[in-house]
Amino acid sequence: MAYVSHNLTDTIVALATPSGLGAIGVIRLSGKEAIKIVNEVFHGKDLTKQPTHTLHFGTLRDDSGRILDEVVVSLFIEPKSYTGENVVEVSCHGSGYILQEAIQLFIDKGARLAQPGEFTLRAFLNGRMDLSQAEAVADLIASSSRSSHAIAMQQMRGGFSDEIKKLRQELVDFASLIELELDFAEEDVEFADRSKLRQLVSKIQSIIHSLIQSFKLGNVLKHGVNTVIAGRPNAGKSTLLNALLNEERAIVSEIAGTTRDTIEEVLNINGVQFRIIDTAGIRDAEDTIEAMGVEKTMQKVQQSALLVYVFDVVKTQPEEVHADLAKLIHDNVQVIVVANKMDLNPYTKFEDYFPDRINEGGDRIDRMNRNEGERGRGGDGERGGGGGGERGGGGDGERGGGGDPGAFHPLTPSPSLPLTKDHWVPISAINNMNIGYLKEKLYEAVISNKMNLEGTIVANARHYEALRKAHESLDRVTGGLEEGVTSDFVAMDIRAALHHLGEITGEISTDDLLGNIFSRFCIGK
Ligand code: GDP
Repeated sequence: MAYVSHNLTDTIVALATPSGLGAIGVIRLSGKEAIKIVNEVFHGKDLTKQPTHTLHFGTLRDDSGRILDEVVVSLFIEPKSYTGENVVEVSCHGSGYILQEAIQLFIDKGARLAQPGEFTLRAFLNGRMDLSQAEAVADLIASSSRSSHAIAMQQMRGGFSDEIKKLRQELVDFASLIELELDFAEEDVEFADRSKLRQLVSKIQSIIHSLIQSFKLGNVLKHGVNTVIAGRPNAGKSTLLNALLNEERAIVSEIAGTTRDTIEEVLNINGVQFRIIDTAGIRDAEDTIEAMGVEKTMQKVQQSALLVYVFDVVKTQPEEVHADLAKLIHDNVQVIVVANKMDLNPYTKFEDYFPDRINEGGDRIDRMNRNEGERGRGGDGERGGGGGGERGGGGDGERGGGGDPGAFHPLTPSPSLPLTKDHWVPISAINNMNIGYLKEKLYEAVISNKMNLEGTIVANARHYEALRKAHESLDRVTGGLEEGVTSDFVAMDIRAALHHLGEITGEISTDDLLGNIFSRFCIGK
C-alpha cells in the first residue's frame, strides 16, 4: 500500500519524545478531532472552549475515573499549528507505562497511531512547508555537528527553497510565452525573445551549476568524512587515534597485529565530523585472523574519502611505505602520510621517503624546504630567477646542493598519486607532537579554501539528482536554441527543467516519492 494512501483525515497520535524513562514525555495528536478526543479524557476544564496557543493543567482519567497522570496540555487550533490541523500536545510524566496507557486512551476515543513522518507529511500537504523544508526537519533532528546543523537549519528555514523557487518562476514566465507561441503555431510568431531566453537559461544554468558543485561539500558536512587510519602493525595507529580523540579509547598494545577489528570513532574538527576507522595493521599475515583484518582494511580504504597512512620512521623503509600506499590508494581517496615516532628519528624528511616527488609540488615544496614552519602561507614570488631553471632538466642531479636525492635510489617509484610535501605530516603520537597540525591538514584535505561555506549548500542526494537533471534539460534548451529548433521542442525541455526543479520543493511530487521521504522519519515527527 502506498504510504500516502493512509487516510489523511484521521486524527493521529504518537509519542513525540523518545521512549524510555524521562522527566516528561510528550504525546502529540493532530487532526480535526484532536481537541475533542483529548477533552474526553482530560479533566480540569473544557478544552474545546479554550483559545489557541494556550496551556492547561489537569488530569487524564480512564473511563472508570482512575487518574492516570497529572498533565499539561498545549492547544494549537488550525491552521496555526505545525501540521496546519488542530494539534494537541500532552505533556505527561515520562513513565513508559503512563505514556503507553495515555496513547491507548486516545486511540480508544478515536485516534489512530501515526505513521512515521506523518505529522510532517501533513504539514507539507497542508502547505505549512515545502518538501525540501520537510526533509530538513529530519536532517535537523539527525544533525550531530555544527555544520550538519547549520545546513539543515538553513534548508528548514527556506533559504534553499527560495532560491529554487525563484529560478523556477523565471523559467515559468518564459515557458508560458513559448507555450503561447504553440497556440499560434500556424502564424509563425515569436512572443518569447530568443536572445533573452538564452541569457536567462545561461544565468539559471550557472546558479544550478554552483549548487551542484556545492553537493560535494554538503555531503561532507552532513554525513561526515569517512576516514581510515591504516599502516603496519605497531606504526602507532591506535596511539594516534587516542591522541586525536584525546582519550584512551583504542587499545594500545606492544604486540604487533593486535588491533584485530576496526574501531570507529568520530572526531570533530572545526564543526566537520571525521568518522575515523582504526584498522588492523597491513602486512602479509600468515595468521588468518590477522589476514581477515588486512582484507577489512583494504575494504574500508575503498569506502573512504580520506586515508591517514601512518608509518614508523625508525622501522619502516621508503620502499615499504611506497608498497603500502600503492596497495591502499584509489581514485577517490585523499591521502595524508603521517610519519610517526619522530621523537626517535627527528631528522626524517619528506625527501628521504619521496625523493622523486621533490619537484612535483613545484615552488611550494622548494619554499617549504627552505622555510619550514611557514607552512600553508600563500606568499609567492619568493623564488628568484636562479631557481626557475631547475625544473624540467634532464632528471639527473638537477637539484644539487643539500642532499642528493640520487643517494636514496634505487627506490620503487613512489605511487602515482598527487602526493607532495603538503600531504606529509611528521608527528610523535605518543608525545602529542604536531597533532594540531595534523588536524588542520585533515580539515584542509576536505574543505579547500575555494569552497564557499557561506552560500547555499546542497546536502541532499535527491536534490542533487534533480538539479543535475534540470541542468541537462537546460543544456538541451540551449542546444535547441542554437540550432533554431521549433518552439515545441524548446517548450518540452523547459517543461522538463521545471519538472525537476519542482521535484525539489515538492511542487511536483508522487506518492512514491513522498512515501520514500516520509517513511524514513521517526514516528511522532
Ligand atoms: P598500532 O599497532 O599501529 O595501533 O600501534 P600502537 O598505537 O599500538 O603503538 C605501537 C607501539 O608504538 C606502542 O608501544 C606505542 O607506545 C608506541 N608508539 C606509538 N607512537 C609513538 C611515538 O610517537 N613515539 C614512540 N617512541 N613510540 C610510539
